[in-house]
Amino acid sequence: MLIKTDKDTIQSYLEDSSNLKGGYVEKVVIPGNIAELVSFMKEANAKKIPVTISGGGTGTTGSRIPFGGTVLSMEKFDKISEVSGKSMSAVAGAGVLVEDLKAAAEKKGLFYTSHPTEKTAAVGGTVATNASGSRSFRYGPTRKYVRRLKMVLACGEVVEIARGQRHLTRADPAFKLPGGREIIIPIPAYKMPDIKSSAGYFAKDGMDMIDLFIGQEGTLSVITEVEMGLVDRPVSIFSCFVFFKNEGDSWDFAEELKKTEALNILSVEYFDHNAVRLLAVKNKNIPEGANAAIFFEQDTSGKNTDALIGYWEKMICDHNASLDTTWVAMNERDAALFTQLRYSVPEAVNDIIRRTSYRKFSTDIAVPGDKFREMVSFYVDTFKKEKLEHVIFGHIGENHLHVNILPGSDDEMRRAQELSLLFVRKGISLGGTVSAEHGIGKLKHAYLEEMYGTGGVREMVKIKKALDPNCILGVGNIFPKENLI
Ligand SMILES: Cc1cc2nc3c(=O)[nH]c(=O)nc-3n(C[C@H](O)[C@H](O)[C@H](O)COP(=O)(O)OP(=O)(O)OC[C@H]3O[C@@H](n4cnc5c(N)ncnc54)[C@H](O)[C@@H]3O)c2cc1C
Repeated sequence: MLIKTDKDTIQSYLEDSSNLKGGYVEKVVIPGNIAELVSFMKEANAKKIPVTISGGGTGTTGSRIPFGGTVLSMEKFDKISEVSGKSMSAVAGAGVLVEDLKAAAEKKGLFYTSHPTEKTAAVGGTVATNASGSRSFRYGPTRKYVRRLKMVLACGEVVEIARGQRHLTRADPAFKLPGGREIIIPIPAYKMPDIKSSAGYFAKDGMDMIDLFIGQEGTLSVITEVEMGLVDRPVSIFSCFVFFKNEGDSWDFAEELKKTEALNILSVEYFDHNAVRLLAVKNKNIPEGANAAIFFEQDTSGKNTDALIGYWEKMICDHNASLDTTWVAMNERDAALFTQLRYSVPEAVNDIIRRTSYRKFSTDIAVPGDKFREMVSFYVDTFKKEKLEHVIFGHIGENHLHVNILPGSDDEMRRAQELSLLFVRKGISLGGTVSAEHGIGKLKHAYLEEMYGTGGVREMVKIKKALDPNCILGVGNIFPKENLI
């Protein structure tokens, strides 16, 4: 087992992309195998030492940033032991990077669907946050593909859960451990929204037990290995950037794309006028006068290309965009450039905020489809009144935009906080979620409480205490430390 105590080496484990400051820890522990991990967990549990699990460190909510105790890094669990076309699945250690799993799947003509823009995320981290990303429009979030999890509980016991193996009901809520002990999981009464969500624990009467551990943000167990479902790799992907003078036209365009199921759309991404400005810093050819953009990808395998081109030309013109300023990827190199350009926006936002001593306020709200226009109009109208630097972009295909507010002074920090809460309340009032893909971490406790009330959060704490009675795992994630007392 590797143990790092050197201050400079530890520093990189005290950060993620949230810009949350002040993390501290005495040591970082890096087990090389299950036996070492089990022995570490048993000792930490006996001594009640807080353990913050670290994946790739790309999270946006400070959830892998420790405030005391020990960091447990899963980086040595980095083996892909199987990629099978027969079972359409891969078995990967929690520390395997998403980009490596993707590459291994693609070598066999398969496709790993989880697509958080940040490819250096680790598989364990994406399961622990139930990550999604642009292509979840077509494929759904990570949860949908998790077939089996191998985990170590806070007490050091090793468990494996396969999907379909055990359903928990209020009448029969016992989780039977291999050693014979039973843990009663008190299934909460709160109702989750009927859209993708990473806000707190998954809970439903009759739920598959595996779902409890997906999106748990390192608070219930240490994930060591994941069996993930794969799909066939799309043979050809058509990707396109369409620029609009008017934001409203881009929303209409996206609306129509979403409706047309036969098109096999993989992703529909939005960039508001400020995001287009950031794109223009990276690419000098962004059309002049562009105030919004939609990036979309379509699986064109088996489709008639001529008919498609005609269709797209009409769609683009019908929504007041110009064919002259529409970019179409002609080959894999162009497609990779488009993906990189799309990625440059969150990256640029993070760079801007890193240069200040403030943190960004980034929403992760999604709402049901029929409420999207009301939500996006609310953002725009609010910013007409509140002059705060902001950038809006994200997964318009799933009615899920990230509003990033970038404060530059203490007063703006206060206003950004108020505005974020306003957006959260609006999203909840429309039946949405306060976190569709990033999780709650250490920054969004108040939002979770807005969504499920203090009662709902209390119910989550009961689950946490059932699985981790000494409350050592992921302290401060999902709910404040004080709630655990
Ligand atoms: C530029 C940029 C773009 C992004 N775009 C997207 C996007 O489109 N969609 C999206 O979903 N996310 C996105 N993210 C967020 C981030 O990539 C995801 O949240 C990702 O799932 C985090 O994985 P990680 O390995 O980096 O986890 P970390 O940041 O290391 O940890 C995240 C959480 O997972 C827990 N954890 C990690 N490993 C384990 C384990 N083995 N067992 C139990 N718990 C564990 C940690 O304790 C922590 O609570 C983006 C981030 C950046 C920087």
